[in-house]
Amino acid sequence: MAEKLKIASYWAADCGGCDVAILDTHEKFLDIVQAADIVFMPIAVDIKEKDVEAFPDGYIDVCFFHGAIRNSENEHMAKLLRRKSKVLVAFGSCAMMGGVPGLANFKDREGILSRVYFESPSTDNPDKVLPQTETQVREGVLTLPAFYEEVKTLADVVDVDYFMPGCPPASHQIVNVFQAIVAGNLPPKGSIVGASTKSVCEECSRIKENKTIKRFYRVHEIIPDPERCLLEQGIPCMGPATRGGCGAACPVANQPCRGCYGPLDGVIDHGAKYISALASVIDANNPEEAAKIFDQIADPAGMLYWFGLPASLLRRVRK
Ligand code: SF4
Ligand code: SF4
Ligand code: SF4
Repeated sequence: MAEKLKIASYWAADCGGCDVAILDTHEKFLDIVQAADIVFMPIAVDIKEKDVEAFPDGYIDVCFFHGAIRNSENEHMAKLLRRKSKVLVAFGSCAMMGGVPGLANFKDREGILSRVYFESPSTDNPDKVLPQTETQVREGVLTLPAFYEEVKTLADVVDVDYFMPGCPPASHQIVNVFQAIVAGNLPPKGSIVGASTKSVCEECSRIKENKTIKRFYRVHEIIPDPERCLLEQGIPCMGPATRGGCGAACPVANQPCRGCYGPLDGVIDHGAKYISALASVIDANNPEEAAKIFDQIADPAGMLYWFGLPASLLRRVRK
């Protein structure tokens, strides 16, 4: 019998949903563990960091790393797992593009700490105490990871072999990628795996009629026609600017695409690309009217860069 692969999965700055998505492959997960030993996966296997440090370099065949790089511990683990892995996959939107944690780049470090530790309504911190990387207590020195100025992608700190988008990646795509790994059938280094080269719109069965709109709605303000394109009903749906592969999971469930699979090939800035899609549906006779219609979108910056601010041209606030 061929030697089993050794795989690992680790989460850094994220919600843990990517690990759950791996477990959500249901009975297919049994195929995964039949072909591969899980040598590190904190959500499922009790193996500690010191055990990983003891692995020889390159011991892990494939490591699925999810989560962005928010602090020094995330970076340390990214570097450790890079060293111990033959193939490192940036798994999910957070690792690939910064993801939802990357929205924090609309603030700087000081602004985030100040909001959380001084200003939030439930905070009682009269001495203005902030977390320290080292605190001397009777028992010795307690340490915490250093909180970075900005959220980074995995590729910002280590060399990445493959990128797998999605928040989280769809289960059928996880299985596809895993089968390709087992078959030794991976594309060239640097490729995006587990996704399509076409847009979400191409996978969406809603009827598109090239209709233009006079106003935008938030999802709770309208009961959309379940058959027709959401964008053409005034609900901002990022399908035209977003890479497919999820089977248009959100529009099928009557929700707009929020862009978690990231931009299409050749697009430098996902948000900018989506602005041009929005412009094509706005029915206005002059720039003022167009601006008024656009202003109906709540939190446009958050919407345009929901999953990829650290990987965008904007990247972060400047002081
Ligand atoms: S990509 Fe989405 S599901 Fe995965 S860790 Fe990030 S926020 Fe969670
Ligand atoms: S914009 Fe959204 S709803 Fe319309 S076709 Fe594209 S994915 Fe479907
Ligand atoms: S429809 Fe859009 S937001 Fe929903 S899973 Fe697909 S890419 Fe992600």
